[in-house]
Amino acid sequence: MAKSGRKVKKSYKLIIFYSLYIIFALFMSYVCINNFFKVKNINIKNGYLKSEYKALGKEYKVRNMINSETADEIKDIVNIDTVTKETKANVFKLAQTAEKRIKEGKTNYKIAYITFDDGPYYLTNKVLDTLKSKKVKATFFLIGRGKEKCYDNAGFDCTTMYAKEAAAGHTLANHTYSHALSFSPYLYGSTSEFINQVKKQEQLLLDKTGVKTNIVRFPGGSGSAGRLRTDMINNLKANGYGWVDWTAQDGDGGYVPSRDAAWNTFTSSINENIEVILFHDYADVTYSILGDAIDYLERNNYILLPLFYESVMVNK
Ligand SMILES: [Zn+2]
Repeated sequence: MAKSGRKVKKSYKLIIFYSLYIIFALFMSYVCINNFFKVKNINIKNGYLKSEYKALGKEYKVRNMINSETADEIKDIVNIDTVTKETKANVFKLAQTAEKRIKEGKTNYKIAYITFDDGPYYLTNKVLDTLKSKKVKATFFLIGRGKEKCYDNAGFDCTTMYAKEAAAGHTLANHTYSHALSFSPYLYGSTSEFINQVKKQEQLLLDKTGVKTNIVRFPGGSGSAGRLRTDMINNLKANGYGWVDWTAQDGDGGYVPSRDAAWNTFTSSINENIEVILFHDYADVTYSILGDAIDYLERNNYILLPLFYESVMVNK
């Protein structure tokens, strides 16, 4: 009895041992299989992202968006279409609140919208560098005619600059395709011709950047439209566009005798709580004061922002 009792005890121990062994083996198999699928999933995900990234790159290449100067911005371009769209929307929401508080006199902060007309130019590259180093976003009122060759560097295709501006997070805006004041006397001859030139430029910017513009600046300012001004404004509105003139400038649209003259014109024109500043990115004199102008505005409590459709400064 005693002997068989020990035997039973021994086999009982063995059963427990083997059971534990099987449970352990099953557990280890589970861990291995699970890890295998986890790794596989990650690989699939990375592979997918990689191919998606490649596809995006290809698409942008087709759109003529990559050249030696914009290649390093590809990451930002991808960002602009995904993350930054949301970020921008949030910034503009805050900016609207800020504008409201400024108008109600509830804050000491002010807002300045720096804008550049008639571009892009080759000099725009340097302007973008300054804006980047100062961490400032601006607005570019762009034209299209003759931009396949930069006016200030015929060997460079200025239409590649639209994408570079968009990639850097600036606002792209519409200054009509031909600008007309210098190219064609007919822009302000009829409202339909004016709207056609706006639409042509809208399509060009959409093709080159995927950005749909919704802010217009009249070439020469809205006053240049003369007797058709109201009719043109109504038509812009009917087409979903806002429009904006300017409240400050450095005079670079005309003859500026010196850097000091530009600086004096600029500083004496800054006197509103919300300013829309007119510059031209073809003007060396403006490029020469740009860094200082940004510092001056920030010292004087201005927040520098890119324009957006909902801004109180955009007429609609
Ligand atoms: Zn202009």
